[in-house]
Amino acid sequence: MDLEEFEFAALDALETAADAETQALLESLKYVRKRRDGERTSVCVNSVEIGGDLFVMMAGPCAVESERQVMETAEAVARAGARILRGGGFKPRTSPYVFQGLGLEGLKLLRKAGDVFGLPIVSEAMTDGQVEMVAEYADIIQVGTRSMQNAALLAALSRCRRPVLLKRGMVASVEELLQAAEALLANGNPNVILCERGIRTCGRLTRNTCDLVAVPLLHQLTRLPVIVDPSHATGRRSLVPALARAAVAIGADGLLVEVHPSPQNALSDGVQSLAIPQFERMMRRLAPYLELWAQERERETALSAARR
Ligand code: PEP
Ligand code: MN
Repeated sequence: MDLEEFEFAALDALETAADAETQALLESLKYVRKRRDGERTSVCVNSVEIGGDLFVMMAGPCAVESERQVMETAEAVARAGARILRGGGFKPRTSPYVFQGLGLEGLKLLRKAGDVFGLPIVSEAMTDGQVEMVAEYADIIQVGTRSMQNAALLAALSRCRRPVLLKRGMVASVEELLQAAEALLANGNPNVILCERGIRTCGRLTRNTCDLVAVPLLHQLTRLPVIVDPSHATGRRSLVPALARAAVAIGADGLLVEVHPSPQNALSDGVQSLAIPQFERMMRRLAPYLELWAQERERETALSAARR
């Protein structure tokens, strides 16, 4: 064996070892693992399908702050093409001395805005005790990055009738994200959307580091829809449109973007929130990428149909 052959043999052995590890992981993920024919599972909320043939933009404020703020944002994002309205009532904040959200009042305002502008809503539940209340108002329940491994919360969500938007823990591996999703599916809730929102690395100029390749990796491994949150991934509004484009190009099923009518006055995450005109511009500039996205999705769907 010459040196080149030796190197290739060594590489193949490594790949086989990696594949064996992946196989073992997939064996343990009975519900979330990809089906043999490659068919995806989509999540439907009212008339919006996440993980289907249309890209889904979810947008809205980090936190619901007032009726006026949430109405203005909902109207603008709906007009610009968003199909789901986001907004936090219960806010998990790093500091206990900052705005913690309007709680139930925030949820009610978000529901009202969603109903007025015809958008399903997504909002976070932080504890198992909040699940029932959030499920009463929200169409999709968000699990925040700080809660991905909160077993009691996942157990309560697995028994609830609402779809779950599961955010990757800020120091969680792709394997751990999948295991958290498995906990939801294995215990009875089939409707889970995965969300890459950035993980902690060594950089300090961005809030997090977006693990974009996790999107196609997750699509290889699971049947679940995968979206990207470029707001929390970067922490800077100037970087959000570029990351959004990249997420579309890499095949994400949707985006979750923070928008505020007056980001400089926002009570949470103002620095990463797009002002309304910035969101509108981002949507316009995404259009050609979304066309390519649709072509690619059509190709994948045809391939998976041919395999059946
Ligand atoms: C949010 O969506 O506003 C939020 C708190 O997100 P994360 O849990 O990803 O930080
Ligand atoms: Mn936020």
